[in-house]
Amino acid sequence: MGPQVNKHIVIVGGGYVGMYTALRLQRKLGKELRDGSVHITVVDPNSYMTYQPFLPEAAAGNLSPRHVVAPLRRVLPKVEILNGVVTKVNHAGKLVTFAPAEGEPRDIPYDMLVMAAGSISRTLPIPGLTDIGIGFKTVGEAIALRNRVLHQLDVAESTEDAEVRRRALTFVVVGAGFAGVEALAELEDMAKDSTRYYRNITPADVRWVLVEATNRVLPEVGPEMGKWTLEQLRERGIEVKLETRLESATGGHVVLSDGTEFDAETLVWTAGVKPSPVVTEGDLPIDERGRIKTTTKLTVAGTKDAFAAGDAAGVPDVTNPGQYCAPNAQHAVRQAKVLADNIVRSLRGQQLVEYRHKYVGSVAGLGLHQGVANVYGIKLRGLAAWFMHRTYHLSRVPTLNRKVRVVADWTLALFFKRETVSLGEMEHPRDGFRAAVASNRRR
Ligand SMILES: Cc1cc2nc3c(=O)[nH]c(=O)nc-3n(C[C@H](O)[C@H](O)[C@H](O)COP(=O)(O)OP(=O)(O)OC[C@H]3O[C@@H](n4cnc5c(N)ncnc54)[C@H](O)[C@@H]3O)c2cc1C
Repeated sequence: MGPQVNKHIVIVGGGYVGMYTALRLQRKLGKELRDGSVHITVVDPNSYMTYQPFLPEAAAGNLSPRHVVAPLRRVLPKVEILNGVVTKVNHAGKLVTFAPAEGEPRDIPYDMLVMAAGSISRTLPIPGLTDIGIGFKTVGEAIALRNRVLHQLDVAESTEDAEVRRRALTFVVVGAGFAGVEALAELEDMAKDSTRYYRNITPADVRWVLVEATNRVLPEVGPEMGKWTLEQLRERGIEVKLETRLESATGGHVVLSDGTEFDAETLVWTAGVKPSPVVTEGDLPIDERGRIKTTTKLTVAGTKDAFAAGDAAGVPDVTNPGQYCAPNAQHAVRQAKVLADNIVRSLRGQQLVEYRHKYVGSVAGLGLHQGVANVYGIKLRGLAAWFMHRTYHLSRVPTLNRKVRVVADWTLALFFKRETVSLGEMEHPRDGFRAAVASNRRR
């Protein structure tokens, strides 16, 4: 029989907040984890944490998909990792319902809970959105999108039907925040680069449309740099439609609120996020925006022994009274640090501290050697901003192992042309085998 566990800490989600909280607890509670007086469990459907700011570079083929994730079991050797999802929280009974990757759901008792389940794409009931739409939050989506863009170039090159060609070469991105602008800029850059290998496609044949409901792009870098980004994108031939909404996309026929209509084979939806659905499956308090009601000390409001942070939590911004912290990695990483320290304080019967961080601005990559930045009031554009984007994210990506791999990928890309092959077949690995079986039957 193992040592008696006095305190079981369950962390729901192994992303930014979940992984960094567990990492800090692993460091600070080394003795307790060794003698068994504390046990930590992280639950996540995946066995890795995704470094989301690198997804656009992974989609563009500058980074290997495996290098933009951190394997949880390797990073957290003293923590139990369970793969599956938490489907319900019963905080009154201190139980979470856990549905493992395979098999029957079971209840897991805990003493302390950390809700770090992040967010999912916020969609609208737009006709046909799922016909051609894809989100941009996971490694799977980023790589599928890369394969799709390259595959559409193959389709366009190989068809003699002008309609099919036009449709294949039309790409739409809805939402001009971080994710949308970076994904569009990186993919457009990759597609432009790839056209040199095609006989019948020039960069001018590929149409990129960015649709944004408000009157600005990339609000994360402020109005001045946002305006500069808008000009940049337009100079590159990207059609940016501000104060415009997607009205329908049925069967790939895109209709915009400004009356524009066209056919497209690919639509990327990055128009905001909403908290992971698990936050409403249980007895935790929810605020008016559907997030977990959270205090400035990162505890769940009105409860004991429950903590929350990141995209799933409505954390009051003490530097900006009346406002909430925006759902971004800048807050998530810093909140994880305070949250873990508050758990340790709580275990030791000490006073908890408030989370306080003033948003410092942001950096964004806009394709190879292009970027925009506004950090601590320093405004950069072009190559300097791109360099800052890379160095900043390199310093932030978890583990030395990942940092080295990311640098190796970038270095290779410096000396060799980027990979422009579509491996869409990987999404249907059994097709070839099934066809072989079917051909045997016919014989
Ligand atoms: C493309 C892209 C680019 C971005 N770029 C930037 C940037 O440059 N700078 C910046 O500051 N921010 C950026 N962000 C935002 C940033 O990535 C998020 O704000 C951050 O990941 C939030 O951290 P989190 O821990 O709350 O959620 P996540 O990191 O998303 O982690 C949530 C985890 O919970 C798991 N989970 C969900 N539901 C359950 C469940 N029911 N049970 C168990 N586990 C569950 C998920 O699998 C996931 O692993 C970007 C986001 C995207 C999509």
